[in-house]
Amino acid sequence: MGRSGSTLIERLLGELPGFCSIGEIVHLWRRGLVENERCGCGQAFADCGFWRDVGERAFGGWGRLDVQRVLRLKDSVDRTRFLPGLLNGSAGEGSLAARSEHYTELYHRLYSAVAQVSGARVIVDSSKHASLAACLRWRYGARMRLLHVVRDPRAVAHSWGKRVVRPDAAPGSSEPEMARYSAGRSALQWMTQNSSLDALARRGIPTLRVRYEDFVADPQAEFGRIADFVGHTGAPLPLGGGEGGVELSGGHAVSGNPMRFRAGPVGVRADHGWREGLAPWRRRLVTAVTAPTRGRYGY
Ligand SMILES: [Zn+2]
Repeated sequence: MGRSGSTLIERLLGELPGFCSIGEIVHLWRRGLVENERCGCGQAFADCGFWRDVGERAFGGWGRLDVQRVLRLKDSVDRTRFLPGLLNGSAGEGSLAARSEHYTELYHRLYSAVAQVSGARVIVDSSKHASLAACLRWRYGARMRLLHVVRDPRAVAHSWGKRVVRPDAAPGSSEPEMARYSAGRSALQWMTQNSSLDALARRGIPTLRVRYEDFVADPQAEFGRIADFVGHTGAPLPLGGGEGGVELSGGHAVSGNPMRFRAGPVGVRADHGWREGLAPWRRRLVTAVTAPTRGRYGY
């Protein structure tokens, strides 16, 4: 689920040789193509040469895509409400499967184009929606690897409650701030998203679950596990506490946490601000709502 500390992990993955991190592609269609928001390189989406090349190879130019149609297609399949059908149906049957097939064809073309333009062999898409992962499972099966980052639901609820200006938003944007959820909604989403990723793992998608708290406590060891899982065989990234570890190079991640604009040295620090910052009643609410599955992840 968003706000689980996955942006840093995604960016670190992008530093591995042969890997390319492209951000939350699920949002590219609207925030990139319609709103022309800023890419991770700082340029407006339409001015970024990387994405121009990708659009050219994938679709013969972004102008050839009917964006409104893509958004309608997305809305008709990539939603939490379709998760039961996506998880339990089988590929090739029914209209949901047909819509998923059309929808993931867009992603397949895009990933293939990214591989060609970047020269990478592993593409990291950090779209958080379990519904997109469920669609992609039909297309890729076990060729896809799922990194499931989970964080204490009270920390996640605290983060979703904060007001954060979106530095990516263009003037006049329909989304000047990052979305906010109430504590109750955040807790319910936490249950749904995490349970759905567990369900995908049970259906044969190679999945690695990483707890944010374990990652910040020992980034070297946890990132080593992640790198093994994604097939990296070279030298480990030098990750320690504090600054001065890995140098993040720029990148072309679309959408996601404002941290994607950061370049230069980056350290891993635990953020436990929720322990003081989350109101006691909210903490009790989230604790109660997530009780049925929280223990599965050690919370
Ligand atoms: Zn860019």
